[in-house]
Amino acid sequence: MNWRKQFIVAPGAKVDLSNILTDYTGAFDVTEKDAEKAKKQLKNNKKKLNELQTQLYGEHKRSVLLIMQAMDAAGKDGTISKVFGAMNPQGTHTVSFKKPTERELSHHFLWRVRQHEPSEGHVSIFNRSHYEDVLIVRVHDLVSEEKWRPHFDNIEDFWAARMQEIRDYEQSIARNGTQVLKFFLHVGKDEQLRRFWDRVAQPEKNWKISNMDYSERQYWEKYQAAYEAAISATSTEQAPWFIIPADHKWFSRLAVSEILIDHLESLGMKYPEPEMDADEIKKKYFGVNNPGDKPRFDLI
Ligand code: ATP
Ligand code: MG
Repeated sequence: MNWRKQFIVAPGAKVDLSNILTDYTGAFDVTEKDAEKAKKQLKNNKKKLNELQTQLYGEHKRSVLLIMQAMDAAGKDGTISKVFGAMNPQGTHTVSFKKPTERELSHHFLWRVRQHEPSEGHVSIFNRSHYEDVLIVRVHDLVSEEKWRPHFDNIEDFWAARMQEIRDYEQSIARNGTQVLKFFLHVGKDEQLRRFWDRVAQPEKNWKISNMDYSERQYWEKYQAAYEAAISATSTEQAPWFIIPADHKWFSRLAVSEILIDHLESLGMKYPEPEMDADEIKKKYFGVNNPGDKPRFDLI
């Protein structure tokens, strides 16, 4: 199955998250055996991903921006470490976007993300992103009327304009050679609570919980609506969204890896042509004139 095609949000499509299964596992059954199979496949994919990233780095022509968004405990952190961790840290840059600082808030909302755009040959991974500015900020009404009123008749127009800005921004970096892939890890509300329980029941996971995680559950529907609006408005050909069923971590990780590999392979990347003549160096410095010759190490 081609998961890139299956999970992509077609540009212009209207997303209804309640119609998309969170516990989907494709041809895999929800058994230990199949989970093991998926993990094995992920292991192979990690090798491929590492090679593809090396090509991206060697080629030094384009860059990749991976955006991870999800409700709490949906598995962003795990995907970043268990999937993207396969890439060479020298070519990647991961940023977690938290509640903005005073300084960040005093700028345009894209200011803080722009500084982390990947340069040629590099991959940037955003753990949360500028999308928070149309998600938590929208759910909790964090933009004062003073700010939007001079420019818009109503707040809905303000959000629509913000999403248009996001589209324009992503298209502009895409036109500059950045491959933008956006993943929404779609976890169920019940599964989230089970994971929250694990975090409180297992002492070594306690550090991951905050009271806010629990209190935010009362806004679940509002968050889902904000995600639906944002994803529907901003999935474009140049910067597509993928909605990944995330109740089973072994499945969501595998799916993300498949989609990323599929995309990178479609670029037809090549290692750059060497600037030197290997045969000439072999001859000149190692005395190797023919393929079978033993190299000499006493010439230079
Ligand atoms: P974890 O899964 O480990 O909890 P996390 O990404 O939720 O990771 P936290 O420190 O728990 O990290 O939460 C960061 C918080 O910052 C989130 O609640 C997020 O919504 C919030 N945040 C991010 N960007 C903005 C923004 N632009 N405005 C307001 N809040 C934001
Ligand atoms: Mg959190």
